[in-house]
Formats: sequence, structure tokens, C-alpha cells
Amino acid sequence: MSDTPTLVSRRTAMLGAVGATAALATGVAGTTPVSAAAPMLGAHGPTHQRIKLGEFEVTVIHDGFIALDGPHPIFGQDQEPAAVEALAVENFLPPKRMTIGFSPVIVNTGSELVLFDTGNGAGRRPNAGHLRSLLANAGYTPEQIDIVVLTHFHPDHIGGLMEDGAPAFPNARYVTGQVEYDFWSPAEKASGPTERVGKLVQSNVVPFADKMSFLGDNQDVVSGITGMASFGHTPGHMVFHIESAGKRMMITGDIANHYVVSLQKPDWHVRFDMDKAKAAEARRKVFGMIAADKIAFSGYHMPFPNVGYVETYGDGFRYVPASYQFAVD
Ligand SMILES: [Zn+2]
Repeated sequence: MSDTPTLVSRRTAMLGAVGATAALATGVAGTTPVSAAAPMLGAHGPTHQRIKLGEFEVTVIHDGFIALDGPHPIFGQDQEPAAVEALAVENFLPPKRMTIGFSPVIVNTGSELVLFDTGNGAGRRPNAGHLRSLLANAGYTPEQIDIVVLTHFHPDHIGGLMEDGAPAFPNARYVTGQVEYDFWSPAEKASGPTERVGKLVQSNVVPFADKMSFLGDNQDVVSGITGMASFGHTPGHMVFHIESAGKRMMITGDIANHYVVSLQKPDWHVRFDMDKAKAAEARRKVFGMIAADKIAFSGYHMPFPNVGYVETYGDGFRYVPASYQFAVD
């Protein structure tokens, strides 16, 4: 009971403050009632984030997102829906609806501006596919891109290579995995079960073949950026290890596409993985290394700003978003 006087006095003080505010509002405005009818503006977030990685700068561009049913059956395709829904709810996510974003990455090495993947281009407008115009917010122009690196050839990664039939990054050369190019580039891939992607490869990738370098496992794009084979999501998918002045980061492309399901349950089948078992093996290998070495990674479909870490968790991994690690030494 000894607390009572304090509680009363606090409450009285609060009521007094509210009363004073109300009086001020009407008093100052004279006879005009106060209105708070500012228009609703819709959800909005930043479109880029830049961090320093050693001597490099790494800029993630948020090129939109789409909402769809999931995670199940896209993620955990071989699981009971209830198990996937329970995992989502356990991780504070809705059980049946999800969003997936698209986030190309730009690395400025000091001598080259290197773009990793190009977004959807016209194929998914208006929700996504605005990379070229979003570059301006981040301080770049399409003409400044020196090298375009393709992790793999799915439409959300190669769709932005062309704009109205012309190169979207007119001064760039191109780098991708040899195995990926060899799989998708033959003309016969543009019909049958691979038709949709095969056609886009013919229109958006093949025309650049003479400006393209093809990497094998553990080969450099430029000094400090190394490609690593991580096959499975597609036949020649590659991830990229970035290192500058002792600071490291992995660009993981699409080896994990849901920050909860893909990481916590790396063996669960994913509809978009062309070889389910190999993709799971690549997830375990790359994220095992990222966890063991405690290095950062940027995944194309991770939650914006797409930079985080993983720790081992149960039989898989747990996503840990980055905070101020790059703002201080
Ligand atoms: Zn993708």
C-alpha cells in the first residue's frame, strides 16, 4: 500500500499533461478544431543499403518483392503442410502467405564496379524489375557497371540484362559459371520443359557470349572476388567469396531462398531447386563454412537489407541479421 500515493500522483500528473495538451491545441488554434487527417502513404522502405567491407563497398539494391502462398509447398515440398506452417509460426511468420524479394548486389573494389545479378527486368513489373532506375538512389548509373556477374540463369537474375532489347548495362563485360552457361545456352533448351528459362537465356544471355568470361570452381572474377561451385539449385549455380583487407563476405545467390525454412531445414525440398539433393548438399556445405568462419553473407532472397550471418541451430542454421558490424572497425 505504500506505493499508492506515488501511483496516484503519477496518474494525476499524466491526466494533467493530457489536459494541458488539449487546452493548448484548442487555445492556440482559436476556434479551428485540430485535424490529423494526413493521407495514408502505403508501406515504403529504403531501396538500397551500403556497407564497407575492408577497402570495398558493398551496396545491396532492393528491387521489389512479390507476395505469394507459402512457405509450403514451395519450401518443404516433401513435408506435410502442417509441419512447414508450424515452423513459420514458431518463427513469428504467417503460416500460409509470404513475400520474396529480389536483391542484386554491387561491389565497388575501387577499380571495378561489379554487379551480381540483374533482377527481373520487365518480366515482373510493376512490383519488381526496376534495378536500372534504382541505381540512381544508390549513386550509380547503368553505364558505370564494369562487370555483371550471374550466379545462375533463372529469370529473376537474368531478366534485367536487357532493356527494350538493348543491353541494360552498356559498358559491362560479363562473368558466369562455365557449367551454367553450357547447360542453358544450347538452342534446344528454349523448348520443352526448360522453355521459359531457355528462351530468356537466348534473348538475354547468349547475345553477350563474346563479352563473357566463364568460371570454374575457385576461379577469380577479379582480385578479391572468387567463384565457388554450388550446383543443385541450377546445374551450374555459383556463389562468390568476397575478401578485402581481411574482411570477408559470401554472395550466396539462391542456395537458400527462405531465411527460416531453407536455413533451419536445409534438407527440405524446394520447388525451385532443379536437383533437390545436390541443392541441399550445397546449402549445408556453404552455410556450414559461413557459420564456422563467422563471416557475413548476402543472399538474393534474404530479407532486405540481405546481409546477415548464420549460426548452427538444431540440425541446420539460424539467420542472424547484420546490424552495425560494418559501421565500426
Ligand atoms: Zn532467384
